[in-house]
Amino acid sequence: MDDSFDLIVIGAGSGGLAAAKRAASYGARVAILEGDRVGGTCVIRGCVPKKLLVYGSACGHQLADAASYGWRLEGEGAHWRCDPALLLANVRAEVDRLNQLHIAGLAKAGVQLISGWGRFEDPHHLRVSDSQGGDRRLQADRVLIAVGGRPHRPAIAGAQLGWVSDDLFELQGFPERVVVVGAGYIACEFAGILSGLGVAVTQLVRGDHLLRGFDREASAVVQEGMEAAGIDLRFGVNPAAIDGEPGDLQLRTEDGSVFGCGGVLLATGRRPFLAGLNLEAAGVAQEGGRIPVAADQSTNVAHIHAVGDVTDRINLTPVAVDEGRAFADTIYGHRPRQVDHSLVPSAVFTQPELASVGLGEEEALERYGSEGVKVYRARFRSMAQALPKSGGRVLLKLVTEAGSGRIVGAHMVGEHSAEIIQMAAIALVMGATKADFDRTMALHPSVAEEFVTMAN
Ligand code: NDP
Repeated sequence: MDDSFDLIVIGAGSGGLAAAKRAASYGARVAILEGDRVGGTCVIRGCVPKKLLVYGSACGHQLADAASYGWRLEGEGAHWRCDPALLLANVRAEVDRLNQLHIAGLAKAGVQLISGWGRFEDPHHLRVSDSQGGDRRLQADRVLIAVGGRPHRPAIAGAQLGWVSDDLFELQGFPERVVVVGAGYIACEFAGILSGLGVAVTQLVRGDHLLRGFDREASAVVQEGMEAAGIDLRFGVNPAAIDGEPGDLQLRTEDGSVFGCGGVLLATGRRPFLAGLNLEAAGVAQEGGRIPVAADQSTNVAHIHAVGDVTDRINLTPVAVDEGRAFADTIYGHRPRQVDHSLVPSAVFTQPELASVGLGEEEALERYGSEGVKVYRARFRSMAQALPKSGGRVLLKLVTEAGSGRIVGAHMVGEHSAEIIQMAAIALVMGATKADFDRTMALHPSVAEEFVTMAN
């Protein structure tokens, strides 16, 4: 088999797959190396299985609300019971299906998939080792590093006894009680999933609020909803050690408290996965554990590029995909373009869901000053809650630059907020002002209509 390629992509996750297929579509001879499963974090152990678990856990709330809409279980003593083992197995089956689809997609695109971990020998050569002890030496005109990130465990005694998010998808069921450490995307999303599936959740947060970096008011509304769902949130708490046996653990905190539980989820961030690449042999520079790149995704070595979480810019799937495609369009399609990293919408699939694009109120105040910012908000109980009489109030919030009226941030906490903010993001990218929103006719009855009817 010929071992020379125009492009070798290391890592078959979202960014690598997108780049490899796009480059092949322009006629490049492309190989993609993957030591784990094709699909990467998003498909195999991230966005996709996580969102399926969110749907699974939200079913409980829907079933609880169903009675107020006239739905009854028939038969004496009938009740709904969740079988997490079945849910997890179904999620894994769907992940398997997508994994196969991605493998087939590579073949269809004419990209050669090589199983194994890639390691630089020099700037143009890589050695690939697979789990069967196989070993190949490959030559490439260009290399794209798209190896993503890995969960990072905090440096506390017994950290290896805790789960990271990857581990949760492999479980056969959940224990009665789980301690979640962290306050970011993963911690908050899994606290909601577990709680919705009937697990007693204590979440330990070292700071004084959830979801640092998001609009504070929005994060407070998420907190309200999580606490109302029974999640025991503790702030200003630092983990010190985990001990015990799997299934019967104690998490000790720096202030001497002890939390007994069946599992500890360490959701304390992710780091670029540079181990084993032997970047030194290729002369690729690192900075703070990540690979810095220029706007055209090139590293300090002109023919070696990097996209996605390994560059630790905005660690979101659509960003990695766009970076991968922009790289291929520029290099192989002769259509140079750069990725716009401003106004990237994102959602946290907590219950309630938070979605956001642009600046939070605090960031806007910092940038434009208190006279330069005008904030509009609507807080109300949505119609979906009228009959069940349960659930918190949704928040819709627009942050505008006072002088021009330009909307610089849109935030929402509540049902379908990710879907709604995706559309609002188009308006922001187009430079919409509050006046543009005001002259848009409302769509009634909906939650999103409040975005165009907020009082001036
Ligand atoms: P985040 O960086 O979002 O959050 C890490 C959390 O862990 C923070 O609350 C941080 O606290 C806390 N933490 C860090 N170290 C310690 C420690 N030693 N002890 C106690 N707490 C600690 O990381 P995640 O792991 O949640 O997610 C990683 C990335 O993955 C996200 O940034 C996002 O880019 C992506 N992602 C996106 C999702 C989505 O789009 N829905 C879903 C999941 C992940 P502090 O705030 O004080 O630093």
